[in-house]
Amino acid sequence: MTTRRPRPTAADRARAAAEDVRARPCPRCAADTLTARTADRVAALDVRADPTPLTPVAEILARLEGRLTWCLTEHEHVGRRLRWRDPWHIAAGPCPHTVVADHRCRPRPDQGVLL
Ligand SMILES: [Zn+2]
Ligand SMILES: [Zn+2]
Repeated sequence: MTTRRPRPTAADRARAAAEDVRARPCPRCAADTLTARTADRVAALDVRADPTPLTPVAEILARLEGRLTWCLTEHEHVGRRLRWRDPWHIAAGPCPHTVVADHRCRPRPDQGVLL
């Protein structure tokens, strides 16, 4: 999908900055996670993903759990982005990207309620 954009505005730059992938701890379980906004889907979505790269089998298991999976792409000029792995991208076979899945907070046996 290509959008004609004559000149980047301040809003465009702010949007691009929000799409930068950042390593941040999860506010609920403190696990290391990657956060970024992705513009791939119909509405922009704020994603929090586990940084662990998935094997193809692990990706299938993650999707069976109802988690979305993402390509972590790296561009020389733009930086890192999370891109939604739609069924066609997956069906096309292995891609050169690192594959990660939505973060799920780990249950903590020592604590009954997550904050
Ligand atoms: Zn990919
Ligand atoms: Zn968490």
